[in-house]
Amino acid sequence: MDTLDVELGTRRYPIHIGAGLLQRPDLLDAVRTRPLRLITDQHVAAHYLAGVQGSLSLDSQHVLVLPPGETSKTLASVEQIMDWLLASRLPRDGLLIALGGGVIGDLVGFCAAIYQRGIDFVQLPTTLLAQVDSSVGGKTGVNHPRGKNMIGAFHQPRLVLADTATLVTLPVRERLAGIAEIIKYGMLGDAGFFAWLEQKLEALLALDDAALRYAVRRSCEMKAAIVAQDERESLAGGAGPRALLNLGHTFAHAIETFTHYNEWLHGEAVAVGLCMAADLSARLGWLSTPDAQRCRQLIERSGLPVQVPAGMRADDFRALMSLDKKVASGKLRLILMRRLGEAVVSGDFDPAALDATLRHYT
Ligand code: NAD
Ligand code: ZN
Repeated sequence: MDTLDVELGTRRYPIHIGAGLLQRPDLLDAVRTRPLRLITDQHVAAHYLAGVQGSLSLDSQHVLVLPPGETSKTLASVEQIMDWLLASRLPRDGLLIALGGGVIGDLVGFCAAIYQRGIDFVQLPTTLLAQVDSSVGGKTGVNHPRGKNMIGAFHQPRLVLADTATLVTLPVRERLAGIAEIIKYGMLGDAGFFAWLEQKLEALLALDDAALRYAVRRSCEMKAAIVAQDERESLAGGAGPRALLNLGHTFAHAIETFTHYNEWLHGEAVAVGLCMAADLSARLGWLSTPDAQRCRQLIERSGLPVQVPAGMRADDFRALMSLDKKVASGKLRLILMRRLGEAVVSGDFDPAALDATLRHYT
């Protein structure tokens, strides 16, 4: 097991990473004496609920199982959870446990942030994306019909237990979506980690324990370090350090919108977005052409998409990217790469290079 101690906001807490951690109730010793409520989804419950419930001696009336998927990340679910918590009289020193992927983590974290003005929660992330991304950093929230993640709060957990053995049951597409975010960390912040990924990709895809542990740990470390500099994404009008985590994401959001958020997984769109960000960075003369090729090759070798959706044109990107929140005062801001392992926020790039990237990819 690896342990990473992170300090975010006023909270200092451990992220434990390793195979079989859900069978280690001792890791929850610090919280298990408190009144607990666990929330999960049906897919995760089918595999892991009985074990966790048993090791925490949780009464089944203190467990809530929601339908899986993004449709559960709504205010209606928040209301359902509030009703349930109040009906079962969870006191303010009670604690919520989020067992599942990013949907459960974001939803339960948000409920913990607002229930009686804020109670503690623990994250037990069971998707690769949740282990390397959503369970770290303190962003919680739900969707609104007018926009994703539009209602939320910053709320840090007390503890994160990332059991890498749970990834065995995760569908392959979902696993790869997490790999895309891991590759993103290498591209944006650590060329050495990127080179390690090139070496260890097959081991990682085969869920080799040591490889997974290192990849999850290094990703969490990098995310926590970036978030620590800019916890609330408030610096430089949203163009501060935390924005770097959005490498590839402006292109990705255009793809997700174009495909109505129901064909492509977020990580799949990010994979193409990373290729496009690297391509543009090379056209600007920042990233070397061989390094841009390495980025695309690693993504392609993983089995992630490297081409935009069929029928998507340069004009679609132009229209959809200008709707992205990273447009500051009418000017498109993108996260680009100065070199492999160094991302920058830039609103000052040659628009002809962006046109060339869009034409090349569409
Ligand atoms: P998810 O929670 O919907 O999980 C994906 C699917 O896998 C679901 O069907 C789920 O039931 C299933 N599943 C989960 N764990 C499993 C396991 N071990 N075995 C078998 N099936 C399993 O999706 P996700 O990709 O984990 O998270 C996406 C969400 O995360 C989005 O809502 C996104 O907005 C959010 N997110 C938040 C942050 C943040 O900083 N808070 C960052 C990135 C993404
Ligand atoms: Zn992402």
